[in-house]
Amino acid sequence: MDSKVRVRFAPSPTGGLHLGGVRTVLFNYLFAKHHKGDFILRIEDTDQTRFVPGAEQYIQDTLAWCGLVPDESPLHGGPYAPYRQSERKAMYKEYADKLIVQGNAYYAFDTPEDLDTKRKEIPNFQYSRAHRMEMKNSLSLSKEVVDDLLKNNTPHVIRIKVPENEEVSLEDVIRGHVSFDTNMVDDKVLLKADGMPTYHLAVVVDDYLMKITHAFRGEEWLPSAPVHVLLWKYLFGLDQMPAWAHLPLILKPDGNGKLSKRDGERLGFPVFGMDWTDPNTNTTTIGFKERGFLPEAFVNLLAMLGWNDGTDQEIFSLDELIEKFSMDRVHKGGAKFDYEKAKWYNGEWIKKMDNEKLANLVRPYFDAAEIEIHENNYLVKVVGLVKERCQLLPDFITQASFYFQIPKQIDIASIAPKWDEKKRDFFVELAAIYTNAMAPGVVSAPAAELELEFKQLASKHDLKPGELMLPFRIMLVGGKFGPGVFEIVETIQLKDTIARIEHSLQLLS
Ligand code: GLU
Repeated sequence: MDSKVRVRFAPSPTGGLHLGGVRTVLFNYLFAKHHKGDFILRIEDTDQTRFVPGAEQYIQDTLAWCGLVPDESPLHGGPYAPYRQSERKAMYKEYADKLIVQGNAYYAFDTPEDLDTKRKEIPNFQYSRAHRMEMKNSLSLSKEVVDDLLKNNTPHVIRIKVPENEEVSLEDVIRGHVSFDTNMVDDKVLLKADGMPTYHLAVVVDDYLMKITHAFRGEEWLPSAPVHVLLWKYLFGLDQMPAWAHLPLILKPDGNGKLSKRDGERLGFPVFGMDWTDPNTNTTTIGFKERGFLPEAFVNLLAMLGWNDGTDQEIFSLDELIEKFSMDRVHKGGAKFDYEKAKWYNGEWIKKMDNEKLANLVRPYFDAAEIEIHENNYLVKVVGLVKERCQLLPDFITQASFYFQIPKQIDIASIAPKWDEKKRDFFVELAAIYTNAMAPGVVSAPAAELELEFKQLASKHDLKPGELMLPFRIMLVGGKFGPGVFEIVETIQLKDTIARIEHSLQLLS
């Protein structure tokens, strides 16, 4: 590539970031970094009616959590600042004026009431070639009237004049040649009455001014593409236009349509990167982060929604993705979202993660559950013992709290049916053996030794170790789960083991 690759993610700060949006960030980022280029975050906040306080901060926080840090952004600054379109307001007018002068745009003076009336009159009304001459604009009115209206500061917008009977096309990196019939495209507003540009004008002007070489965005923007191509043609020349790619949708688990926030609520899984609290309704939509996903896993699973490297490999670090990513391996079709698979990715990343780092991540969950951790080393050890069994960070609470405190609930119902005096005698003696074993400096014993002792005692009582293991496990952890029983005893040590045996014996009497 001759010029430096520059890509942008250009969200409107209207709410939480859907995983489709984060995947758009990711593909832009991977492409840029693969080509040693720049990734720009530009906030497209020209539609003040849709502006939601906190949304921009949320977007920046989500990107930071994912490790997809922009080279240029409102926060990081950069040579093309400002990166918030509302702060660039003054830059757009000259381009709208240029379009007027060239005859590619026109003034429209219709009031909201005029437009409403027209919409009522004509079903599916579009302000386009079909109806523009019936409206109040500089194409339908005489020059004198228009000059007068302008002189009197009559509120007006500037609309693009979409040409008739033309084909507008673009070469989409994913979809190939895509063409549109201009007769189907309406005369979009470019500059609003308050002087603010609309998204259509601002996106083209800023992509030009910020020297964007590739514009990858969601498939939902494809219908807007003909307006953007026309604006490129009229303002800067098509040879200046970035390469476009419209990324495939992320679909509902059953493949029927786009995955929505509501699907997540209905099916009980997150669709936002991080928790988002809507300041207007004060309702919170759960995020992957707060559900206990690791950013490494989130990025990995997003990359696989619509891309693969051509092999069966599924686990990729961000660095590996940067190295291997290419747009020609992005699929055209939508990618079905599978939450079970998403959790599997997280489980794999939990297994890979260093125990100390993992301990730091799970500690807040223990704090929130009011489980006291006296020694960090002990937590690190426990995390290593149970991580194979955890897919989400809160799983560490269910899988490991018994290492820190006597289980709140003991599943006595699973012991009781096969419980008898012989077993009771066995456990009474086991507790006595452990009590005797304790001496100054002796608090535990290696798992293998404990197991041998246990088996010898079982045979003395004429019991099979197999019938004793389940009751023992339940006494120690509360239920039928957890790592090897003797590893647990070794870790929680003799004193706690004795206390748990005695507690269960009481419950069983
Ligand atoms: N502002 C648009 C959005 O909210 C950006 C679309 C584009 O990338 O052109 O997603």
